[in-house]
Amino acid sequence: MNILNIQRMSTEDGPGLRTTVFFKGCPLKCTWCHNPESILPSIQKEWFQVRCIGCHICIVNCPAQALSVTENGIDSDMTKCKLCLKCVDGCPAGAMQQIGKIISVEMLFNEIIKDKAYFNGSGGVTLSGGEVMAQTTEAVKLCQKLKAHGISIALDTSGYTQYANFETLLPYVDLLLYDLKVDDALDHQRLCGVDNAIIKSNLIRLSQESVKIWIRTPIIPNATDDVKNIKAIATFLSEYSIRFERWELCAFNNLCIDKYARLGQSWEFEKTPLVTKDTMALLLSTAQAIVSKPEVVSFTGLTQLEEEVKCTKQ
Ligand code: SF4
Ligand code: SF4
Repeated sequence: MNILNIQRMSTEDGPGLRTTVFFKGCPLKCTWCHNPESILPSIQKEWFQVRCIGCHICIVNCPAQALSVTENGIDSDMTKCKLCLKCVDGCPAGAMQQIGKIISVEMLFNEIIKDKAYFNGSGGVTLSGGEVMAQTTEAVKLCQKLKAHGISIALDTSGYTQYANFETLLPYVDLLLYDLKVDDALDHQRLCGVDNAIIKSNLIRLSQESVKIWIRTPIIPNATDDVKNIKAIATFLSEYSIRFERWELCAFNNLCIDKYARLGQSWEFEKTPLVTKDTMALLLSTAQAIVSKPEVVSFTGLTQLEEEVKCTKQ
Protein backbone atom coordinates (compact mmCIF):
# COMPACT_ATOMS: atom_id res chain seq x y z
CA MET A 1 0.00 0.00 0.00
CA ASN A 2 1.02 3.63 -0.51
CA ILE A 3 0.74 6.00 2.42
CA LEU A 4 1.75 9.61 2.88
CA ASN A 5 2.47 9.65 6.56
CA ILE A 6 1.34 8.75 10.05
CA GLN A 7 0.29 11.59 12.34
CA ARG A 8 0.30 10.85 16.03
CA MET A 9 -1.59 12.53 18.91
CA SER A 10 -4.17 14.03 16.55
CA THR A 11 -7.22 15.64 18.17
CA GLU A 12 -8.99 16.70 14.96
CA ASP A 13 -9.77 13.41 13.27
CA GLY A 14 -12.40 11.97 15.58
CA PRO A 15 -12.86 11.59 19.33
CA GLY A 16 -9.98 11.38 21.81
CA LEU A 17 -6.31 11.10 20.95
CA ARG A 18 -5.82 9.47 17.60
CA THR A 19 -3.20 8.14 15.25
CA THR A 20 -4.12 9.17 11.72
CA VAL A 21 -2.82 7.30 8.69
CA PHE A 22 -2.91 9.32 5.47
CA PHE A 23 -3.38 7.17 2.37
CA LYS A 24 -1.93 8.44 -0.92
CA GLY A 25 -4.17 8.75 -3.96
CA CYS A 26 -7.53 10.48 -4.37
CA PRO A 27 -10.12 10.41 -7.19
CA LEU A 28 -11.16 14.01 -6.42
CA LYS A 29 -9.26 17.12 -7.38
CA CYS A 30 -10.71 19.86 -5.20
CA THR A 31 -9.39 23.23 -6.34
CA TRP A 32 -8.65 24.22 -2.72
CA CYS A 33 -7.12 20.85 -1.71
CA HIS A 34 -5.16 21.18 1.53
CA ASN A 35 -3.22 17.98 0.90
CA PRO A 36 -2.08 18.32 -2.73
CA GLU A 37 0.64 15.75 -2.11
CA SER A 38 -2.06 13.16 -1.46
CA ILE A 39 -3.82 13.36 -4.84
CA LEU A 40 -1.51 11.29 -7.05
CA PRO A 41 -1.45 7.59 -6.17
CA SER A 42 2.20 7.37 -7.20
CA ILE A 43 5.34 8.27 -5.28
CA GLN A 44 6.38 11.91 -5.89
CA LYS A 45 9.15 14.28 -4.91
CA GLU A 46 9.24 17.71 -3.29
CA TRP A 47 11.93 20.35 -2.91
CA PHE A 48 12.68 22.16 0.38
CA GLN A 49 14.25 25.52 -0.42
CA VAL A 50 15.53 26.10 3.13
CA ARG A 51 17.60 22.92 3.07
CA CYS A 52 19.06 23.35 -0.42
CA ILE A 53 22.80 24.14 -0.49
CA GLY A 54 22.82 24.86 -4.23
CA CYS A 55 25.23 22.06 -5.20
CA HIS A 56 23.15 21.18 -8.31
CA ILE A 57 23.91 17.48 -7.97
CA CYS A 58 20.22 16.84 -8.57
CA ILE A 59 20.41 18.58 -11.95
CA VAL A 60 23.43 16.52 -12.97
CA ASN A 61 21.76 13.29 -11.78
CA CYS A 62 18.46 13.86 -13.55
CA PRO A 63 18.29 11.62 -16.64
CA ALA A 64 15.28 13.51 -18.00
CA GLN A 65 16.73 17.05 -17.90
CA ALA A 66 13.67 17.98 -15.86
CA LEU A 67 15.50 20.20 -13.36
CA SER A 68 16.87 23.69 -13.83
CA VAL A 69 17.99 26.66 -11.75
CA THR A 70 15.69 29.65 -11.63
CA GLU A 71 15.62 32.76 -9.48
CA ASN A 72 13.25 30.85 -7.20
CA GLY A 73 15.60 27.89 -6.84
CA ILE A 74 15.43 24.44 -8.36
CA ASP A 75 12.56 24.19 -10.81
CA SER A 76 11.03 20.88 -11.88
CA ASP A 77 9.46 20.50 -15.29
CA MET A 78 6.84 17.90 -14.45
CA THR A 79 6.12 17.28 -18.13
CA LYS A 80 9.62 15.80 -18.36
CA CYS A 81 10.02 14.27 -14.90
CA LYS A 82 9.84 10.45 -14.86
CA LEU A 83 9.65 10.29 -11.05
CA CYS A 84 12.74 8.08 -10.98
CA LEU A 85 13.80 9.80 -7.71
CA LYS A 86 17.49 9.93 -8.67
CA CYS A 87 17.43 13.58 -7.56
CA VAL A 88 16.18 12.48 -4.14
CA ASP A 89 18.73 9.71 -3.74
CA GLY A 90 21.67 11.94 -4.68
CA CYS A 91 20.78 15.09 -2.73
CA PRO A 92 23.38 15.54 0.04
CA ALA A 93 21.23 18.00 2.01
CA GLY A 94 17.91 16.20 2.13
CA ALA A 95 16.37 19.06 0.17
CA MET A 96 14.81 16.71 -2.38
CA GLN A 97 12.42 14.42 -0.58
CA GLN A 98 10.23 11.50 -1.54
CA ILE A 99 6.49 11.87 -0.97
CA GLY A 100 4.69 8.65 -0.22
CA LYS A 101 5.91 5.35 1.03
CA ILE A 102 5.14 1.83 -0.15
CA ILE A 103 4.63 -0.20 2.99
CA SER A 104 3.15 -3.58 3.80
CA VAL A 105 0.00 -3.81 5.90
CA GLU A 106 2.01 -5.77 8.47
CA MET A 107 4.66 -3.04 8.81
CA LEU A 108 2.06 -0.29 9.02
CA PHE A 109 0.14 -2.16 11.70
CA ASN A 110 3.33 -2.75 13.72
CA GLU A 111 3.96 1.00 13.62
CA ILE A 112 0.44 1.97 14.64
CA ILE A 113 0.02 -0.55 17.42
CA LYS A 114 2.85 1.17 19.33
CA ASP A 115 0.35 3.95 20.09
CA LYS A 116 -2.30 1.73 21.63
CA ALA A 117 -1.53 2.86 25.20
CA TYR A 118 -2.52 6.47 24.64
CA PHE A 119 -5.85 5.78 22.91
CA ASN A 120 -7.16 5.45 26.46
CA GLY A 121 -10.66 4.21 25.71
CA SER A 122 -11.93 7.23 23.76
CA GLY A 123 -9.27 7.54 21.02
CA GLY A 124 -8.16 5.23 18.25
CA VAL A 125 -6.97 5.13 14.67
CA THR A 126 -8.30 7.29 11.84
CA LEU A 127 -7.78 6.26 8.24
CA SER A 128 -7.62 9.37 6.07
CA GLY A 129 -6.10 10.60 2.85
CA GLY A 130 -6.23 11.04 -0.07
CA GLU A 131 -9.04 8.55 -0.30
CA VAL A 132 -8.79 5.38 1.76
CA MET A 133 -11.31 3.63 -0.48
CA ALA A 134 -8.86 3.84 -3.36
CA GLN A 135 -6.93 1.13 -1.45
CA THR A 136 -9.84 -0.75 0.07
CA THR A 137 -8.25 -4.20 0.02
CA GLU A 138 -5.28 -3.03 2.06
CA ALA A 139 -7.47 -0.92 4.35
CA VAL A 140 -9.61 -3.94 5.21
CA LYS A 141 -6.55 -6.02 6.10
CA LEU A 142 -5.29 -3.22 8.33
CA CYS A 143 -8.70 -2.80 9.98
CA GLN A 144 -8.95 -6.52 10.68
CA LYS A 145 -5.66 -6.39 12.57
CA LEU A 146 -6.60 -3.26 14.48
CA LYS A 147 -10.00 -4.63 15.46
CA ALA A 148 -8.41 -7.85 16.68
CA HIS A 149 -6.61 -5.60 19.19
CA GLY A 150 -9.80 -3.79 20.19
CA ILE A 151 -8.86 -0.49 18.56
CA SER A 152 -11.58 1.96 17.57
CA ILE A 153 -11.44 2.96 13.90
CA ALA A 154 -12.63 6.13 12.17
CA LEU A 155 -12.77 6.40 8.38
CA ASP A 156 -12.37 9.85 6.83
CA THR A 157 -13.79 9.67 3.32
CA SER A 158 -14.90 11.74 0.35
CA GLY A 159 -17.64 9.17 -0.17
CA TYR A 160 -16.66 8.86 -3.83
CA THR A 161 -16.46 5.10 -4.21
CA GLN A 162 -18.62 2.10 -5.02
CA TYR A 163 -20.92 1.21 -2.14
CA ALA A 164 -19.45 -2.31 -2.14
CA ASN A 165 -16.25 -0.82 -0.69
CA PHE A 166 -18.18 0.58 2.26
CA GLU A 167 -19.86 -2.80 2.76
CA THR A 168 -16.43 -4.40 2.98
CA LEU A 169 -15.07 -1.88 5.47
CA LEU A 170 -18.11 -1.09 7.61
CA PRO A 171 -17.84 -4.15 9.88
CA TYR A 172 -14.62 -2.65 11.28
CA VAL A 173 -15.47 1.07 11.29
CA ASP A 174 -16.88 2.83 14.36
CA LEU A 175 -17.12 6.33 12.94
CA LEU A 176 -17.39 7.82 9.47
CA LEU A 177 -16.07 11.33 8.84
CA TYR A 178 -18.01 12.07 5.66
CA ASP A 179 -17.38 15.08 3.42
CA LEU A 180 -20.28 16.96 1.83
CA LYS A 181 -18.57 19.85 0.10
CA VAL A 182 -20.84 21.12 -2.65
CA ASP A 183 -24.50 20.25 -3.21
CA ASP A 184 -24.98 21.28 -6.83
CA ALA A 185 -23.83 18.52 -9.19
CA LEU A 186 -22.34 20.82 -11.83
CA ASP A 187 -20.56 22.95 -9.23
CA HIS A 188 -19.21 19.80 -7.60
CA GLN A 189 -17.90 18.60 -10.95
CA ARG A 190 -16.30 22.00 -11.62
CA LEU A 191 -14.76 22.41 -8.15
CA CYS A 192 -13.91 18.83 -7.19
CA GLY A 193 -13.43 17.17 -10.57
CA VAL A 194 -16.15 14.51 -10.14
CA ASP A 195 -19.92 14.23 -10.00
CA ASN A 196 -21.42 14.05 -6.51
CA ALA A 197 -24.37 11.72 -7.21
CA ILE A 198 -22.57 8.67 -5.85
CA ILE A 199 -21.41 10.63 -2.77
CA LYS A 200 -25.00 11.50 -1.92
CA SER A 201 -26.46 8.07 -2.69
CA ASN A 202 -23.76 6.37 -0.60
CA LEU A 203 -24.56 8.62 2.34
CA ILE A 204 -28.28 7.85 2.08
CA ARG A 205 -27.47 4.12 2.27
CA LEU A 206 -24.87 4.55 5.02
CA SER A 207 -27.42 6.38 7.09
CA GLN A 208 -29.43 3.12 7.25
CA GLU A 209 -26.43 1.35 8.85
CA SER A 210 -25.49 1.53 12.52
CA VAL A 211 -22.13 3.29 12.03
CA LYS A 212 -21.76 6.75 13.62
CA ILE A 213 -21.54 9.57 11.07
CA TRP A 214 -19.98 13.01 11.33
CA ILE A 215 -20.57 15.24 8.31
CA ARG A 216 -17.87 17.75 7.36
CA THR A 217 -18.18 20.68 4.98
CA PRO A 218 -15.12 22.77 4.13
CA ILE A 219 -16.06 26.44 3.97
CA ILE A 220 -13.97 27.77 1.08
CA PRO A 221 -14.24 31.41 -0.05
CA ASN A 222 -15.98 31.79 -3.41
CA ALA A 223 -16.40 28.05 -3.71
CA THR A 224 -18.50 26.52 -0.93
CA ASP A 225 -19.11 29.49 1.36
CA ASP A 226 -22.42 30.73 0.03
CA VAL A 227 -25.72 30.45 1.85
CA LYS A 228 -27.28 28.69 -1.13
CA ASN A 229 -24.81 25.81 -0.90
CA ILE A 230 -25.18 25.33 2.86
CA LYS A 231 -28.96 25.59 2.58
CA ALA A 232 -28.95 22.93 -0.16
CA ILE A 233 -26.74 20.55 1.85
CA ALA A 234 -28.92 21.02 4.93
CA THR A 235 -32.05 20.39 2.86
CA PHE A 236 -30.54 17.22 1.42
CA LEU A 237 -29.70 15.97 4.93
CA SER A 238 -33.22 16.74 6.12
CA GLU A 239 -35.16 15.46 3.13
CA TYR A 240 -33.42 12.09 3.24
CA SER A 241 -33.47 11.96 7.06
CA ILE A 242 -29.74 11.40 7.08
CA ARG A 243 -28.69 10.27 10.54
CA PHE A 244 -25.60 12.10 11.81
CA GLU A 245 -24.08 12.88 15.19
CA ARG A 246 -22.26 16.02 14.09
CA TRP A 247 -22.05 18.39 11.18
CA GLU A 248 -18.91 20.51 11.17
CA LEU A 249 -18.49 23.57 8.97
CA CYS A 250 -14.70 23.74 8.68
CA ALA A 251 -13.35 27.24 8.00
CA PHE A 252 -10.80 27.57 5.19
CA ASN A 253 -7.13 27.89 6.16
CA ASN A 254 -4.06 28.58 4.07
CA LEU A 255 -1.56 26.43 5.95
CA CYS A 256 -0.88 24.39 2.83
CA ILE A 257 0.78 27.21 0.83
CA ASP A 258 4.24 25.74 1.46
CA LYS A 259 3.12 22.31 0.28
CA TYR A 260 2.22 23.72 -3.13
CA ALA A 261 5.53 25.58 -3.30
CA ARG A 262 7.48 22.41 -2.47
CA LEU A 263 5.63 20.54 -5.23
CA GLY A 264 6.39 23.33 -7.69
CA GLN A 265 2.67 23.97 -8.15
CA SER A 266 0.67 27.17 -7.95
CA TRP A 267 -2.43 27.41 -5.74
CA GLU A 268 -5.33 29.65 -6.72
CA PHE A 269 -6.19 30.28 -3.04
CA GLU A 270 -2.69 31.52 -2.18
CA LYS A 271 -3.83 35.06 -1.46
CA THR A 272 -7.33 34.21 -0.26
CA PRO A 273 -8.05 35.64 3.19
CA LEU A 274 -9.60 33.57 5.97
CA VAL A 275 -13.39 33.50 6.21
CA THR A 276 -14.91 36.17 8.45
CA LYS A 277 -16.55 35.24 11.70
CA ASP A 278 -19.78 36.84 10.44
CA THR A 279 -19.81 34.58 7.39
CA MET A 280 -19.28 31.49 9.54
CA ALA A 281 -22.03 32.61 11.90
CA LEU A 282 -24.40 33.17 8.97
CA LEU A 283 -23.68 29.77 7.46
CA LEU A 284 -24.03 28.11 10.85
CA SER A 285 -27.42 29.67 11.50
CA THR A 286 -28.50 28.78 7.95
CA ALA A 287 -27.67 25.13 8.55
CA GLN A 288 -29.16 25.08 12.04
CA ALA A 289 -32.45 26.53 10.79
CA ILE A 290 -33.00 23.56 8.49
CA VAL A 291 -31.71 20.38 10.16
CA SER A 292 -33.72 18.59 12.83
CA LYS A 293 -30.93 18.71 15.44
CA PRO A 294 -29.39 22.20 15.21
CA GLU A 295 -27.36 21.64 18.37
CA VAL A 296 -25.06 19.16 16.58
CA VAL A 297 -24.00 21.68 13.90
CA SER A 298 -20.87 23.68 14.69
CA PHE A 299 -18.06 25.51 12.98
CA THR A 300 -14.37 24.84 13.41
CA GLY A 301 -11.13 26.54 12.38
CA LEU A 302 -9.71 30.04 12.46
CA THR A 303 -11.70 33.03 11.21
CA GLN A 304 -10.33 36.43 10.17
CA LEU A 305 -11.14 37.93 13.55
CA GLU A 306 -9.21 35.28 15.48
CA GLU A 307 -6.30 35.59 13.09
CA GLU A 308 -6.22 39.36 13.67
CA VAL A 309 -6.25 38.83 17.43
CA LYS A 310 -3.42 36.33 17.10
CA CYS A 311 -1.33 38.79 15.04
CA THR A 312 -1.89 41.61 17.54
CA LYS A 313 -0.68 39.42 20.39
CA GLN A 314 2.57 38.47 18.63
S1 SF4 B 1 21.11 18.17 -4.85
FE1 SF4 B 1 19.84 18.86 -3.13
S2 SF4 B 1 21.07 20.46 -2.16
FE2 SF4 B 1 21.97 20.13 -4.20
S3 SF4 B 1 20.93 21.67 -5.51
FE3 SF4 B 1 19.77 19.76 -5.65
S4 SF4 B 1 18.17 19.99 -4.08
FE4 SF4 B 1 19.72 21.51 -3.62
S1 SF4 C 1 12.49 12.33 -10.19
FE1 SF4 C 1 13.98 11.64 -11.74
S2 SF4 C 1 13.24 12.56 -13.64
FE2 SF4 C 1 12.19 13.60 -11.99
S3 SF4 C 1 13.41 15.42 -11.57
FE3 SF4 C 1 14.13 13.82 -10.17
S4 SF4 C 1 15.82 12.82 -11.24
FE4 SF4 C 1 14.69 14.01 -12.75
